[in-house]
Amino acid sequence: MTSPTDKASDSASAEHKVSNFLRQIIEKDLEQGTYASRRWAGSPGDAAHHAAGEPDPAKIRTRFPPEPNGYLHVGHAKSICINFGLAKEYGGVCHLRFDDTNPEKEDTEYVNSIIDAVKWLGFDWAQLGQAAGSAAPYQASDYFDFMYRAAEALIEAGHAYVDEQSAEDMRANRGDFGKPGVDSPFRSRTVAENLTRFREMKGGKLADGAAVLRAKIDMASPNINMRDPAIYRIRRATHHHTGDTWCIYPMYTFAHPIEDALEQITHSICTLEFEDQRPFYDWLMERLCECKLLAAPAPKQYEFARLNLTYVITSKRKLAQLVNESKVSGWDDPRMPTIVGLRRRGYTPESLRLFADRIGVTKSDSWIDYSTLEGCLREDLENKAHRGMAVLDPVKLVLTNWAEAFGSDGYTEDCSQPALPHSAIAEGQTPPADRTFLIGKEVWIEREDFEEVPPKGYKRLFPGNVVRLKGGYVIECTGCARDAAGNVTEVHAKVIPGTKSGTPGADSIKAKAAITWVSVADGVPAEVRLYDRLFAEAHPDAGGKDFLQSLNPDSLKVVTAYMEPSLAGAQPDQKFQFERFGYFVADRLDHVAGTKPVFNRVTGLKDSWGK
Ligand code: ATP
Ligand code: MG
Repeated sequence: MTSPTDKASDSASAEHKVSNFLRQIIEKDLEQGTYASRRWAGSPGDAAHHAAGEPDPAKIRTRFPPEPNGYLHVGHAKSICINFGLAKEYGGVCHLRFDDTNPEKEDTEYVNSIIDAVKWLGFDWAQLGQAAGSAAPYQASDYFDFMYRAAEALIEAGHAYVDEQSAEDMRANRGDFGKPGVDSPFRSRTVAENLTRFREMKGGKLADGAAVLRAKIDMASPNINMRDPAIYRIRRATHHHTGDTWCIYPMYTFAHPIEDALEQITHSICTLEFEDQRPFYDWLMERLCECKLLAAPAPKQYEFARLNLTYVITSKRKLAQLVNESKVSGWDDPRMPTIVGLRRRGYTPESLRLFADRIGVTKSDSWIDYSTLEGCLREDLENKAHRGMAVLDPVKLVLTNWAEAFGSDGYTEDCSQPALPHSAIAEGQTPPADRTFLIGKEVWIEREDFEEVPPKGYKRLFPGNVVRLKGGYVIECTGCARDAAGNVTEVHAKVIPGTKSGTPGADSIKAKAAITWVSVADGVPAEVRLYDRLFAEAHPDAGGKDFLQSLNPDSLKVVTAYMEPSLAGAQPDQKFQFERFGYFVADRLDHVAGTKPVFNRVTGLKDSWGK
């Protein structure tokens, strides 16, 4: 039997069956046994290392290889769901690997945040990995020794040379789309000369930028990436993990395929911008398998379209700019598309996994509408989030005949309402306990729920009109009090005894509308942060435009609300549906149950942007 709380994950797994080009490739490889001969020695390593291991118990190996130079965002969430999801589905393993080969920008703060993000999304490399004898996470910088060996092997086989042209000459001699490149004068160096010079690079004998090691491929290739790409450069920088051990560092295009191969990755799934690098990936794998350094069959690279989401920026550099220029309060600002930001905003792992499934995997770039992401969240919370009433723009309503009706002004009465609507409860499931709250002589209502002179069709409070206080009594509006400036300070009404919701007299009088309210007797003041989209334009950074110009000035409005006790007592991170307003979450950092409630608006009840 299905419980409604599983709805999002259920529909996600149903949609899982939808095929895509990656599943087709994997299924074909499994069918043909492309990787059946692979061995796995329990840890990453070269051909000899794995040859001494067992047949690999993991049917496939994928990897998620972030550079630890920032916080992960919703685009990375897509990549995580794809890589971990496919591994799980096909009896494989997904490696979490820190691609930390660039010494300059990396930091352990980011490493930890990435680990947290992957776990929070519901993926566990350790569990999946242990079954297959691997203990992730891995770090690419552990492979520097091997990468250096691989570079020397390429030199020895005549496939690489040390180039000492100036940077300008090298650029000019590369040619362009219409013009083939020109051989470097250093291209014909002997193996011995290249080896000596490369060792001098490593030994710190050459200045930064004085030389690079290049693969010797084809200066006339129509693919510019194949025109003798640089594979090692000199860079005196302290690495966050290897310190000052190295003054030469591998280029990403050289390092990445090797990392995959050492880890026995079968399907190396990346975004489309790496498509032009694939020939070099294959070239390098062939050369290193030829000289028996790497175990064959080598991994293969496949490209999918990155996630582009309207109203959202998914570039770590630009997100860092928002943080550094204090446009937001930090990486975890609830308006940020970072995983920490989405989490604080109230997004659930289920909703993000559902989103990843729903948008699927394609081979061409497109834009996904932001409302798709919000829709997945609503779908996940609809049957999970308990209901509650909060008044966001409060004005006091006084029931002037209260003492007359109930004996004293101080009299209060309990009201109760279901925490979840009937439709959210699956057959056989025990509904959660009802919420209870008080009703008394004074209650808070929304300012917009009273009009002295009602506009056409207005059904809420105006003199003479009869409405229900939701879950409480039916009341008849009699008027209001105003201050000197003409602002309404109090709304007046009469309670109609015997009409309380859930009692036999409840239907004795027809109310025109039911309005939300919170009693003064037990309502708790709360800070409510009304978040909206961070950018007012759908494509804030399109065509190189200055994205700071399209920041939405109304992306955050803070109000003091009153809320019923069941909301005020929430645990941090707990989500609710505030009746009529949408989904809200108790802020993970600032909310204190009961005494200092702080809530964030996650999303409205329906898509109302720009309407
Ligand atoms: P950014 O451009 O934001 O810095 P990146 O691609 O440099 O992102 P990495 O840390 O290298 O960030 O990314 C790790 C993995 O996440 C890569 O495999 C990358 O392809 C993938 N990825 C990054 N951005 C997206 C996106 N918008 N959609 C899908 N996958 C993405
Ligand atoms: Mg990158």
